[in-house]
Amino acid sequence: MKFIIKNLEQLNIFAEKLSNHIEEGDVFSLIGDLGAGKTTLVQLIGKHMGVDTYITSPTFSIVNIYQGDFEINHLDLYRLDDPSELEAIDFETYFYPEGVTFIEWAEKGGDYIPDEIIEIKINQLEDTREIEFIGSTDRAIELEKRLNESFGD
Ligand code: ADP
Ligand code: MG
Repeated sequence: MKFIIKNLEQLNIFAEKLSNHIEEGDVFSLIGDLGAGKTTLVQLIGKHMGVDTYITSPTFSIVNIYQGDFEINHLDLYRLDDPSELEAIDFETYFYPEGVTFIEWAEKGGDYIPDEIIEIKINQLEDTREIEFIGSTDRAIELEKRLNESFGD
């Protein structure tokens, strides 16, 4: 199932629908090339979850934390040279969160990344984007189903 996203407005609708189904403990891996819209998606989800500060890319800080309906951890592991660097940032807090976590470039986290992760891939095509849930965890399948039911309404 691919969600076709033609512009920022449609991404915003996708973000709103997804935010309605997010639960405490959810950890998302956002996959896609530079400029695909990973950070933008987190910004929009955060807005719908009541974050009133502007969400920026945590590329240099590795992690930014926001308060919305519940705590939102936003990580970007792009600059990690070795997964073990995660030991220095108290990774358990983010990978097994009380709130919700979004991770960009999670593949840089190696074995530290939890198995129960919800993988969302953003494909940037010529003039549109496709979003798909690519993981096979129960939670990813459930979220995809819920979004499928409500998207396009
Ligand atoms: P990433 O975090 O994947 O590197 P960003 O979200 O930082 O990408 O940047 C993506 C850029 O593309 C932003 O300028 C954003 O406004 C734009 N963008 C993201 N999604 C869409 C979309 N669906 N339609 C049009 N522009 C988009
Ligand atoms: Mg980004």
